[in-house]
Amino acid sequence: MMIGVIADDFTGATDIAGFLVANGLATTQMIGVPPAGTTVEGDAVVVSLKSRSNPAGEAVADSLAALAWLQSLGCRQIFQKYCSTFDSTAKGNIGPVTDALMEAIGTDITVICPALPVNGRSIYKGYLFVGDQLLQESGMKDHPITPMTDSNLMRLMDMQSRGRTGVVTATTVEKGADAVRAEIERLRASGMSYVVLDAVSDAHLDVLGQAVADMKLVTGGSGLGAGIARAVATGDASRTEELGRQAATAGAALEGPGIVISGSCSVMTNAQVAAYRGLAPVFDVDVERCLADPDAYGAEMAAWALAQPQDGDRPSPMITATASPDILRDVQARHGAAASEAVEHAFAAATRKLAEGGIVRFVVAGGETSGSVTQALAVSGFAIGPQIAPGVPWVRAVDRPLSLALKSGNFGTESFFLDCQPANVRAAIGGSA
Ligand code: ADP
Repeated sequence: MMIGVIADDFTGATDIAGFLVANGLATTQMIGVPPAGTTVEGDAVVVSLKSRSNPAGEAVADSLAALAWLQSLGCRQIFQKYCSTFDSTAKGNIGPVTDALMEAIGTDITVICPALPVNGRSIYKGYLFVGDQLLQESGMKDHPITPMTDSNLMRLMDMQSRGRTGVVTATTVEKGADAVRAEIERLRASGMSYVVLDAVSDAHLDVLGQAVADMKLVTGGSGLGAGIARAVATGDASRTEELGRQAATAGAALEGPGIVISGSCSVMTNAQVAAYRGLAPVFDVDVERCLADPDAYGAEMAAWALAQPQDGDRPSPMITATASPDILRDVQARHGAAASEAVEHAFAAATRKLAEGGIVRFVVAGGETSGSVTQALAVSGFAIGPQIAPGVPWVRAVDRPLSLALKSGNFGTESFFLDCQPANVRAAIGGSA
């Protein structure tokens, strides 16, 4: 096993797994840390944790457990995967997890690179941009759990970690992998523990992938994962094609009844929900009722969805809690974090009933939301299928006939929920293939 990935949420895990497969590495995704002694084949394995926003101590313990399992497989590189918008707070969890992994692995240097240019996340002089905006000016400033109010990755990392952070700027990246390696070493020697890597293009990620391919620990987003995969894959085009064929079969979406569950409040998900609203039956979640009795309300959601006809060319029904920043601010002012937890709890209850009722295609928007849904389904691992949008592959449970599309908040275009529907539905509605 070459690369062991520890991902801090489930959409992030499918995101990087999809990019590793697309760039030539045979990859399996595990849900949670498998029991000791579990083995998997392939070039890379991704452990999906739900450690982005729980208390830092728990995130550290879960990440160290994942590390121990990955080390038992003989992984030569550990990749700490977090969101391309560096979702975290002053307390973590990125910094504390990085520090714990560095100590356990025995390294005094790692890199920080959340860039994913294909989805508009770029890093310049250590500042993170989302599209044309600084992170702190993007929709991430209104995130319900991890609002991002600074864009300077050095400051963000310094605030939540034990060490100090330097940066390798794009000017150095343009000079190639040797120059990047030399600069990382210079920064390490000057006392830095973490080095932010600028990247505004896939060409930069190619250079960075080569530069860090031999590091024991790297941290970042799926873009860096893709760069590393391109650097270490055999370069055998026929093998990459074969992996693509395997993904198209092993992980491809099953046919059968489906559901869309939307819990992200990101700008893009708001647009996706609005676009799908006119096409499919919609259940609008009442947060007050989630707070009052999430189990009973979740069962009600599922009963509604299971009563919707799923034949012919109809798109799957949608259950949505997705709210605009104004509505969300209002809910949070009244209930704080309890509101988000109650929505997740109700979605988990609905998911169990939906699966019992025969739903086999789950399309889920939101990282935490996807974690709740996947945990409620209690699957042990995923085969990675073809990508629906960059960073969102279809995945199929290894132990049951269940297909999932787990979408990180801002990923996909406006037509994403329609893009997840079977070909006959897309053709009938005239959506993209
Ligand atoms: P993203 O990928 O955009 O970060 P997440 O699912 O990770 O999305 O986070 C969204 C959080 O907001 C979840 O915890 C979800 O339960 C919560 N949430 C969704 N809708 C509402 C709402 N209407 N009011 C309060 N919280 C909500």
